[in-house]
Amino acid sequence: MSINQWLSQRIEKTKQAGLYRELRTMSTAPQPKMLVNGTQKIVFSSNNYLGLANDPILIEEALKTLQEFGVGSSGSRLTTGNTEWHEKLEQRIASFKRMEAALLFSSGYLANIGVLSSLPEKGDVLLSDQLNHASIIDGCRLSKAETVIYKHSDMSNLEKKLKETQTYTRRFIVTDGVFSMDGTIAPLDEIMKLSKRYDAYVIVDDAHATGVLGERGRGTSELFGVSPDVVVGTLSKAVGVEGGFVTGSRVLIDFLINHTRTFIFQTSLPPVSCGAAYTSLDIIEKSQELRERLHRQIKIIKSTLEAMGFTVYGQNTPIIPVIIGDTAKSVIFSKKLQENGIYAPAIRPPTVPKGESRIRLTVTATHNDSQVEHLLTSFKDIGRELKII
Ligand code: PMP
Repeated sequence: MSINQWLSQRIEKTKQAGLYRELRTMSTAPQPKMLVNGTQKIVFSSNNYLGLANDPILIEEALKTLQEFGVGSSGSRLTTGNTEWHEKLEQRIASFKRMEAALLFSSGYLANIGVLSSLPEKGDVLLSDQLNHASIIDGCRLSKAETVIYKHSDMSNLEKKLKETQTYTRRFIVTDGVFSMDGTIAPLDEIMKLSKRYDAYVIVDDAHATGVLGERGRGTSELFGVSPDVVVGTLSKAVGVEGGFVTGSRVLIDFLINHTRTFIFQTSLPPVSCGAAYTSLDIIEKSQELRERLHRQIKIIKSTLEAMGFTVYGQNTPIIPVIIGDTAKSVIFSKKLQENGIYAPAIRPPTVPKGESRIRLTVTATHNDSQVEHLLTSFKDIGRELKII
């Protein structure tokens, strides 16, 4: 059998299971209304939570860096790829996150894999939330430590697992700050208390919380007034650019520079991304307006959908999962939304548990009131037509 025949058989199985994925082409910059596969759609599925990916100030700053430093960095950080922009951005991230130091990675995915594969040693244990992101799961798989899963945000279950793992050399609790499929916020205050009581370190992936939660958008640490040992983040969501980072103590960063393979053996971010992210963090920290607009839209969408009779998961985050239940119905719901000019994908098993297929909405600060109104009217009409409400 040729490799292509073998792969075609595997793809066929994916199709039969209803899990085949296809790429869609965006022909416009990230904004609420985009040309998706050649048709105008109001997009309710982007991570551009504050609308900064297409911000004119960021573009202007990026152009300056682009002209001065070119399009690529030409090497890894430890060879020729460490520009003054990388160092400036790391200092900016550290001050924004109220941590001693920060280290850039090419993506949040690689930051998580890097930390989890290099920090814990053999004989240690990683206590990982059941709904953690794929990059945390992969990081745990690459780690020499053992992994123990605790029930999603269930503090009594975490405490039980902490008690059971006292014989391991070290314990690391690892959690998303905001969970990407459920929109829930990790109870970081309680996690920190348990970590003190049972002698554990805490690693938080604040990918969806950075720029969004806390008065100044510093994330879940600011929201709960706590300081975990390691905070991972991404520049690709509310910050609107690309790249990942780790923040913590200076010693932690020194350790990662020397031991983390996804840092050492990767070409560094292009300086233009660093320049743009630097300006974006300035805007995020100084301006409350975008965050306030975002939270206003979140409140309206969630409360209206709930009042209509929909089951809506999550807390006050831009991730708003509307539970449809049946997988086929979720796909039909998403298609009908598309016919109404709205792009919001259906999320199906195995990404979410069986019977919990959903439309995963995300909202941004730049969606205007009439776009939100159109979304809500469409949900009401389709929900009634499909007998969900
Ligand atoms: N963590 C979480 C919780 C995420 O949702 C994502 C992106 N989907 C990542 C990490 C990875 O970040 P990046 O896109 O920068 O690789």
